[in-house]
Amino acid sequence: MNLSLPLRELSGVGDKLDESFHRVGLRTVKDLVHYLPRTYDDYTQQSRIVDLKPGKVTIVAKVESVETRSVRRGMRITTAVLADDSSKLKAVWFNQPYRATQLKTGERYMFTGTFEFSYNRYQITNPGVEQAKKLEQTEGERIVPVYRSIRGVKPPLLRKLVASLRPTITMLGETLPLTIVESQKLMSNAQSHLALHFPESQEQIAQARERVGFEELFELLLASQLNKQANNRLQGWKLPFDVAAAKEFVAGLPFALTNAQRRAAWQIIQDFESEIPMNRLLQGDVGSGKTAVAGFAARQAAQAGYQSAIMAPTEILASQHAETLSALLAPFDVSVGLLTGSVKGKARQELLSQISDGTVDIIVGTHALIQKKVEYHKLGFVVIDEQHRFGVAQRQALLDKSIRMPHLLAMTATPIPRSLALTVYGELDVSVLDELPSGRKPIATKLWAPTNTEKLYEAVDDEIAKGRQCYIICSLIDEDPENDVKSVEAEYKKLKSTVFNHRKVGLLHGKLAPVDKDAVMQQFADGDIDILVSTTVVEVGVNVPNSTVMIIENADRFGLSQLHQLRGRVGRSTHQSYCYLVMSDSSKPSARLREIEKSQDGFYLAEVDLKLRGPGEIYGRSQHGALNLQVASLGDTKLIARAQAAAKEFLSSGDDLLQYKQLATRVEKNQRLTTLN
Ligand code: ADP
Ligand code: MG
Repeated sequence: MNLSLPLRELSGVGDKLDESFHRVGLRTVKDLVHYLPRTYDDYTQQSRIVDLKPGKVTIVAKVESVETRSVRRGMRITTAVLADDSSKLKAVWFNQPYRATQLKTGERYMFTGTFEFSYNRYQITNPGVEQAKKLEQTEGERIVPVYRSIRGVKPPLLRKLVASLRPTITMLGETLPLTIVESQKLMSNAQSHLALHFPESQEQIAQARERVGFEELFELLLASQLNKQANNRLQGWKLPFDVAAAKEFVAGLPFALTNAQRRAAWQIIQDFESEIPMNRLLQGDVGSGKTAVAGFAARQAAQAGYQSAIMAPTEILASQHAETLSALLAPFDVSVGLLTGSVKGKARQELLSQISDGTVDIIVGTHALIQKKVEYHKLGFVVIDEQHRFGVAQRQALLDKSIRMPHLLAMTATPIPRSLALTVYGELDVSVLDELPSGRKPIATKLWAPTNTEKLYEAVDDEIAKGRQCYIICSLIDEDPENDVKSVEAEYKKLKSTVFNHRKVGLLHGKLAPVDKDAVMQQFADGDIDILVSTTVVEVGVNVPNSTVMIIENADRFGLSQLHQLRGRVGRSTHQSYCYLVMSDSSKPSARLREIEKSQDGFYLAEVDLKLRGPGEIYGRSQHGALNLQVASLGDTKLIARAQAAAKEFLSSGDDLLQYKQLATRVEKNQRLTTLN
């Protein structure tokens, strides 16, 4: 069968089914062949109820009773009593009321789910159900693949369709270079797909996943190395180092640079002196002082006669950077311009012409910097702050604004675990600020039950009385009647008129007009607001060193990296700072959340997030989604190292990538996705 055959042509697929497939991007036989099971129900491992041990289990049992009840707004619980000849067991489903109609009392079914101790008794939670009679004839002793569900396509039908493709899957050609399949002792492409769709044992599944995961990582790492080679062939500008200007800049700072800052600055200077354009990632935990490093480099670029563009993800951050840099650089006759969406009319025209005639040396802005109308005189250096926030196309557009490739410094406060950096940014040189400016105290961090707010607000008031300021973060802007999550609007109104009616309370969120946002931020920076109630717009970069208290409402809804970012808004001076993470309810906080109480190390917390929640949390959902890793885990450092070595070997072997059609296409796509230039 032809892999490019539309699914509609398969027998048993009508218009309706075809439409359901289209909705999830499945169009051809090939798409379906590569639609891999998310997990498996292993019916070869049946247990008797008395023998169950906590963990994933499968039992065959009779349903003695079943009922559904509503507990809280929106939440429905279905419970059933199951029995086999050894014992009885309670099954519980959350928000699956159809289970009550599906299960007939007195009938036998096969249940696969998690056996656990919960609410003071053992139960099986959210088990999958198959009718036992049917199973015994067809798939009783099988490992049954579980695919990501597709609306309008029942799982048995999907399995049947995939089964009808078995001959095609058997004939799948090899997609990796044979030398690699052999040297890495991998299953063939056909074997691995057969094993994933029609597994015979857990070992077979593991081997097949290793093969597919390896291939995904190999494609990514090969792309990244090709990017590096391509970058090294580019023509850039040579910016000579000016020792006097460097000394002057450092002497003008209100602080001494940390050793880590010096090291990073030095690495940048060396890159500037080469004609190969710099391609560097500056990683530094929140508050480690990346702005000063960027400022140092921009000063050097200006000294050499080149413009710098500094792109920040929000207007707040852009104007803050512009302010910081003007203050640092004005004494040296280096001029700084701010270009954002809210610079309009005549002021904008004037600024644009200053950019194009070269009167402005450093242009700070949001993505306004990449608009068509912006023409640079001589762009030699590009800084992208909080780079994971930007899409690839935006970075490309900025780099397109120079005749030669400008030097690029991408800065991120989101610590990227090594495994992730290697796969996704393997082409980059990395500088790490692994040291905070001296005198910073760890931020005292506490998880807080939602009931005990009085004491919390007292602690806030004490700090304000000492002249400090406070952030209160809520995840929503407006009140949502559907759930209990706190919103900034409601919190702001409440606090302003009750507990904190004697304090100045401000409100900040992304829907405010840019001028209003700036005004609020300015007031907060000037100390005219004591308590800033805000959404996560303050998450990245905002720097108001006098603030010492950070309260995060519904903290359990955030990832650790994000909490760490938010927490990093305080602890920016020598004052002791505090972070209170208020839970959504009084249940016991997870082990994951406890980690943030214990650790101030962004790299460590990102590793925990990576293990528990996957790379989307750290790296930015959209980009990671595009990486399309179905099987590989970016936490699998061993497989990454193997794929990395194999990619290097392949490149040096002189083997021609173009003879591997699928590999070449995917590598090319990855190259576009992961490159910074
Ligand atoms: P981030 O790395 O999170 O972008 P910033 O560049 O905003 O951090 O710097 C955080 C704060 O630390 C700023 O107030 C900055 O002036 C200050 N700072 C930067 N470097 C030093 C240093 N070497 N010593 C003391 N304070 C510093
Ligand atoms: Mg910053």
